[in-house]
Amino acid sequence: MSGVVGNWRVELVERYRDLFHPPAGAPMSAQGSPECGSGWRDLLDRMCVRIRAAVRPDGGAFRFTQIKSKYGTLRVYWDGTLSPDAAALVEEAIALAEARSACSCEICGEEGRLYEGAWLTTRCTTHAEGRSPVAVRPGFENIYIVRYVVGGKSRITCRRYDRENDAFVDVDPASLDIEEE
Ligand SMILES: [Zn+2]
Repeated sequence: MSGVVGNWRVELVERYRDLFHPPAGAPMSAQGSPECGSGWRDLLDRMCVRIRAAVRPDGGAFRFTQIKSKYGTLRVYWDGTLSPDAAALVEEAIALAEARSACSCEICGEEGRLYEGAWLTTRCTTHAEGRSPVAVRPGFENIYIVRYVVGGKSRITCRRYDRENDAFVDVDPASLDIEEE
């Protein structure tokens, strides 16, 4: 039944009303009601648990404004009035969910990767359905690189998303042969 498929979104919004703030009686009308496949339900649930744990003790306001699939991976937007520390915890929870979406089939949630096609999708081999995988430079699987500037100098941090432990692991940029000036 197609109705059953749609219910996971309602359940998620209802379970985390404090984060979605749905209009009374209309959970699907919540701004952040997820616009993605049910395979990502679990990673969204994990993200909401982490965000709630950051928001509750902080006491500031939080609201999802958009949760969607873009270029094959999750995008999460929010607004609110959190302390810098709580906001950083929220951003980390979102980074973990977005990284997990990049290696989890949007259809079934099993381990997957990015595929080309009419549009980019993250799929397991079963749901790839003849699409071609997007090539990843060897050693750069699930690597996330952040470039920033401190005191006028360019710096980078490298992390690898560990799907089994649902956590980031620091990676030495030198081991990836990345230029750091
Ligand atoms: Zn799948």
